[in-house]
Amino acid sequence: MHETGSSRSEISSQAEAASSCPRPPGLSPDDITAVTSASLENWFSQMVPRCKAYAIAQKQAGHPIVGLLCEYAPRELILAAGGVPVCLCGGDPDTIPAAESVLPANLCPLIKSTFGYHVERTNPFLEMADLLVAETTCDGKKKMFELMGKERPTLLLELPQKENDPDAFDHWVRELRGFRTALASRFGVDITDAKIRAASHLMNRERRLRRSLAELMKANHPPFTGRQLLDFKSLISTLPSDLSQYEKALEYYRAQPPPLPSGRPPVRILLTGVPLVHGAERVLELIESHGGCVVCMENCTGLKPILDEVDETADDPLLALATKYYALPCSVKTPNQSRLSLIRRLAAEYQAQCVIELVWHACHTYNVEAVHVKRLAENELRLPYLKIETDYAPSDSARIAVRLEALFETVRSVGCIE
Ligand code: SF4
Ligand code: SF4
Repeated sequence: MHETGSSRSEISSQAEAASSCPRPPGLSPDDITAVTSASLENWFSQMVPRCKAYAIAQKQAGHPIVGLLCEYAPRELILAAGGVPVCLCGGDPDTIPAAESVLPANLCPLIKSTFGYHVERTNPFLEMADLLVAETTCDGKKKMFELMGKERPTLLLELPQKENDPDAFDHWVRELRGFRTALASRFGVDITDAKIRAASHLMNRERRLRRSLAELMKANHPPFTGRQLLDFKSLISTLPSDLSQYEKALEYYRAQPPPLPSGRPPVRILLTGVPLVHGAERVLELIESHGGCVVCMENCTGLKPILDEVDETADDPLLALATKYYALPCSVKTPNQSRLSLIRRLAAEYQAQCVIELVWHACHTYNVEAVHVKRLAENELRLPYLKIETDYAPSDSARIAVRLEALFETVRSVGCIE
């Protein structure tokens, strides 16, 4: 259950700015005559207030706000129901103490931060939400949803966890059909096949644009950092102004000459493991401030959910949705061979020189699966591998930095670079 979340301090200060602003802050796409990397950075740095202004306007216009916490939730069905799918995963360590007044401390920070917002009632997107979509993915998230569901309207999607199993897939299809019916009845709308196809078309467009931006990192000298790329991910998908900015960004970066290398080139990293939700980007920043460049993020805030598209031409658009989402290689699946295949493919395509795996404390599924990823990286791909197990508190940053520097020296010394 991830996705982008929100930092509490950022939400409160930026949200106020948004409500007093006549239009969403940042540069209007129509105003931009000369796109620059600074103008793009400015646009995407205003993501939270822009999303907030959009959600308020949509709610006032009668569109329900639907909160999501996982990439298995099909946004297309929410869009087809006239709703606004908003990511609610928490990335702020400051909400964790409130969560721990109810939840056990030994849970992953993403679950606790999200639940802390619920306890404190400080995430305006959560407070605006007419409905939450919960899934049976990892145990901690599943049981956290149970508690949230006592106080907020929630629909639960049961995700079968066997990979490539026909019965499991059939069950998933039935779950999505039930979800379609439940959304239609709750919001009093007809969710037609045509509406699902239109929503699939829109989501595919966004996936294509974000994927194309990510693919620019395949270059020998990537045009931006992994941290900058992460900023292109929004709390709310398919905002028309964001789609327009993605197009402008692609046009701009494709036209730019490759940046001139200065000093030692950064080590090219494939980052895998848990998602880096909004506000919890610390490890990525540490990697890139100590000599690395994350050229490929395999996780759920990176490429994993945007590689496959929904078949817009399928006779049964709901079956097409089920096919796309069931294939997502999350560590809650067992076995999860597709994730290893994906890492194998991405490491080659993005010329990774090492693999770093991020695991949030108490995330058992990613932590155990790390054994397979380490074997794949070291024994088959012949790439140095580092697992970083941490949470949202910055207390171990210095220790992580030392391990990163050692990893990068190893990469350089084995001749993978320079
Ligand atoms: S890593 Fe798994 S549980 Fe988390 S958002 Fe992705 S699919 Fe959902
Ligand atoms: S425990 Fe792992 S799978 Fe579950 S919410 Fe946390 S990071 Fe995601």
